[in-house]
Amino acid sequence: MTEPMNQVSILGINFDDTTLDNFVRVLTKRIDNHLRTFVVTANPEIVMYANEHKKFAHLINNADYTIPDGIGIILGAKLLATPLSERVAGYDVFTRMLKWGSDNQKTAFFVGAKPNVIADLRKIVSREYPGLIIGGTQDGYFTDEQAVAEAIRQADPDMVFVATGSPKQEEFISRNINKAEALFMGIGGSFDVLTGNVKRAPKKWQDLKLEWLYRAIKEPSRFKRLAILPKYLADVAKQRINNK
Ligand code: UDP
Repeated sequence: MTEPMNQVSILGINFDDTTLDNFVRVLTKRIDNHLRTFVVTANPEIVMYANEHKKFAHLINNADYTIPDGIGIILGAKLLATPLSERVAGYDVFTRMLKWGSDNQKTAFFVGAKPNVIADLRKIVSREYPGLIIGGTQDGYFTDEQAVAEAIRQADPDMVFVATGSPKQEEFISRNINKAEALFMGIGGSFDVLTGNVKRAPKKWQDLKLEWLYRAIKEPSRFKRLAILPKYLADVAKQRINNK
């Protein structure tokens, strides 16, 4: 049932080598078979965080799948001479799963983002994915986690999307994945993007692999986060030497 995928280890984090189409096929099959699935969408920032927090690294490596959400991961795999097939953006998996859920009357639960964003999300999802059953929505600034977990349990969803940013979302999932036989996926700022509160880079920028630059220009506070990249690349280069 579990489809083993080739893995590429980058600084101790094991990435699954897949494509968007293949990955969506694997997930839909698992949902149809009522298998719990924990998906991590990781970028260099998450890899570096995991390197400094061993418990978190352990949590990620125990997820069912970790996909390369970020061109930095693709570059890292290339530098290690173990290239990955393609970048699989968490946002793309998210929208494909919503479409499939709508076509197959599945139930989804959404946790994350600011209250106004999650309210918009409810409207947009009802309009654009009319066949999808919304099992519940919860903004990402709650204090009573037990209550959220209980709401998920009662909704008995097929898919739970958690968009509270990393590492919060992965920690939430690992504590609560036992509440439903569902796909649980951490997807960062995806609710902001789906509702138009944050714009994704135009296709051209994406094709040039410059989405990260576009986002940093639009949201200068993100430049700080890019500062991690040189250290990430240096550590990957070190791994390459050690692998030899
Ligand atoms: N967020 C949340 N709860 C928190 C902190 C953040 O729901 O306690 C939300 C925030 O509103 C945003 C998302 O988490 O929608 C994080 O987005 P970001 O762009 O930082 O995530 P990335 O995709 O870069 O991991």
